[in-house]
Amino acid sequence: MTTLYESAYAKINLTLDILCKREDGFHDLETIMQTLSLCDDVEIDVQTGKEWTLWCDKEDVPCDSRNLAWKAAELFEQHSGRNLGGVAIRIKKRIPSQAGMGGGSSDAAAVLRMLNRYCGHLFSEMELADLGGRIGSDVPFCVAGGTCMCEGRGERLRRLPAMPECTILVCKPEFGVSTPALYRTIDEKEILRRPDNAAMEQALKAKDLASIARGVWNVFDPVVSEVHPEMNEIRDVMQQCGALGQQMTGSGSAFFGVMPDAQSAERAAEQLRRRYSCIFICKPV
Ligand code: ATP
Repeated sequence: MTTLYESAYAKINLTLDILCKREDGFHDLETIMQTLSLCDDVEIDVQTGKEWTLWCDKEDVPCDSRNLAWKAAELFEQHSGRNLGGVAIRIKKRIPSQAGMGGGSSDAAAVLRMLNRYCGHLFSEMELADLGGRIGSDVPFCVAGGTCMCEGRGERLRRLPAMPECTILVCKPEFGVSTPALYRTIDEKEILRRPDNAAMEQALKAKDLASIARGVWNVFDPVVSEVHPEMNEIRDVMQQCGALGQQMTGSGSAFFGVMPDAQSAERAAEQLRRRYSCIFICKPV
């Protein structure tokens, strides 16, 4: 038996734009994603010689073949033609669910990365990312990590210059957002403001943190903020504590602020903790 380990990093969307609804029902996106130091710990025993098992320390996460980490191991076994000889997966979760932080996707990506390492890098990073696309739209980015422009359903990746070092404060309010319902709502609305992805790419290239932070924009944010005033409350606290920019990530409901330093992040976190329990101070990775 061999034990493998990998961190599964959370993601945020620095920008998120919806271009159109496709005939297959999916939407074409243009989104710049970034991985954060906030992570789940994923461990796998391979060649256990026993039935497949999955353990997770969070009750609301499925511990069977519905889990994306399990699906990733199954897919890898089928696609590589390697017999993993019985698999035991253990996940310690820190990434909140229903947050738009790619919790399940990053666990799946971590499984793909470590099984690929175990098999002597059978697939290139891009081949592995493509394979991940069969599990979910965010999995290809989670395989690659770092800073990427993601197009199509999210599966077409282009690596961008890394985000400069900074402090990112994340606050996940209690409510969850139904992603299909959110897409239905946005289909019925006119999108009044879109992110300027070209400007964001320039700002990343120039390592200009103030411009990066000013440019964060997610077309879902106003739709969710309209029905959940908590979003504006979190935004106000971050702004008052000096955030350079702030925005909801993915389809919510986590909200992040690009903070000028660790002290202002701590000040904002302290205020937010009076009302919200799910708060993280992290860094881009
Ligand atoms: P995204 O940012 O991709 O929209 P999300 O914020 O909706 O993700 P996830 O953590 O990916 O949140 O969880 C969504 C659902 O997926 C959960 O309710 C859970 O039932 C299921 N799920 C499957 N595998 C996992 C996993 N490994 N970790 C967490 N949830 C998982």
